[in-house]
Amino acid sequence: MIYWVHIARSNDRATLHRDRCSEVPSTHVYKDFWEGGWFDYPDKERALAAMEQSGTTYQKNCPVCKP
Ligand SMILES: [Zn+2]
Repeated sequence: MIYWVHIARSNDRATLHRDRCSEVPSTHVYKDFWEGGWFDYPDKERALAAMEQSGTTYQKNCPVCKP
């Protein structure tokens, strides 16, 4: 299953989503990892590692899709 990480540098936050969550935009705009954006990972382990590496202060699971 694909997992998505939404990195929001402006509010220092990273959020983990499942694939097909309604919060995930249908057209993905990839941005630089250090600027933020939406990034997909083939498994939860790698998505969580990416969240840790993002250096954001607030890291949470999406309350909608509950990954
Ligand atoms: Zn979600």
